[in-house]
Amino acid sequence: MKIKRIVEEALEESKQLLDKGKLADYIPELTKANPRHLGISILSKDGKKFSAGAVKESFTIQSISKVITLLFCLDFFGDEKVFSLVGREPSGTPFSEFITLSDFTDKPKNPFINSGAIALASLLASRMTFEDYLAKSNELFGQGDFKLNQAVYTSELAHSERNHSLAWELKRMKLLSADLETSLDFYTKVCAIEASAENLVDLAFCLANYGKIANKQVFKQRDIATTLSLMLTCGLYDGSGDFAAAVGIPAKSGVGGGILAVVPGRAGLVTFGPALDYNGNSIGGIELLRIISDQLDFHLFLPQAAI
Ligand code: GLN
Repeated sequence: MKIKRIVEEALEESKQLLDKGKLADYIPELTKANPRHLGISILSKDGKKFSAGAVKESFTIQSISKVITLLFCLDFFGDEKVFSLVGREPSGTPFSEFITLSDFTDKPKNPFINSGAIALASLLASRMTFEDYLAKSNELFGQGDFKLNQAVYTSELAHSERNHSLAWELKRMKLLSADLETSLDFYTKVCAIEASAENLVDLAFCLANYGKIANKQVFKQRDIATTLSLMLTCGLYDGSGDFAAAVGIPAKSGVGGGILAVVPGRAGLVTFGPALDYNGNSIGGIELLRIISDQLDFHLFLPQAAI
């Protein structure tokens, strides 16, 4: 009961910030979202689910897919191969940054900026089709509810000059494992997977549960630790430091308005609110997570009470 009240009050309070956010418009189809939507779904260690607000609304997962891509890559190809293609450092730049892919670096800064995610999508595309990726994601976390949003996919592909530039640069640097168009198509399709906050919370919970799904160790604990470390340091792009200090848990955002957040060993959380801040992160989602973290002692560097 206590959690239900905390979540509902946090939702009302966070809604007050929504007017300060803006829908992503560089993918035209995303401007059809309702900027007043805000919701959160929480799955706790004892299997209890708490939801409030717009948790049944479907949205495209966008950069949240980069978490799934990283997990699959670590699982299929191992740490050494993955981190020969991308680094593990915050970029200090927007997600579509081009600047660090210069002659002075040998790979993208991390797997969560677009250049890094395209390199890893390319690696996966050398091993599986998009349909395999969708089927595996559905089998593990989506319970059949993840699907491709064809309109968003087509809309993004028609406006993907920047991602094309990044892919060409990756090709020049010999960091693509599949051909360029296949790599970009795969990347754009996984970003356009559609789900609701309630559908996505199983993915957040798998990470919180150190890679176990229904008592089966599906991902290596070490790969989960690597993924969560990168979410904490790079998951919200140039807003990662502020979020880590204020909220204190690993998270990954997407321009569709979702944020996947993880309290290791305790709970998985997903917020949805398509009004975004300057860095392209959900403005209401961040506020909601900040208040809830504060109320439920989620911050990893503060003493914890039982949820
Ligand atoms: N598909 C988006 C892009 O490539 C993902 C960006 C994001 O969610 N931050 O620009």
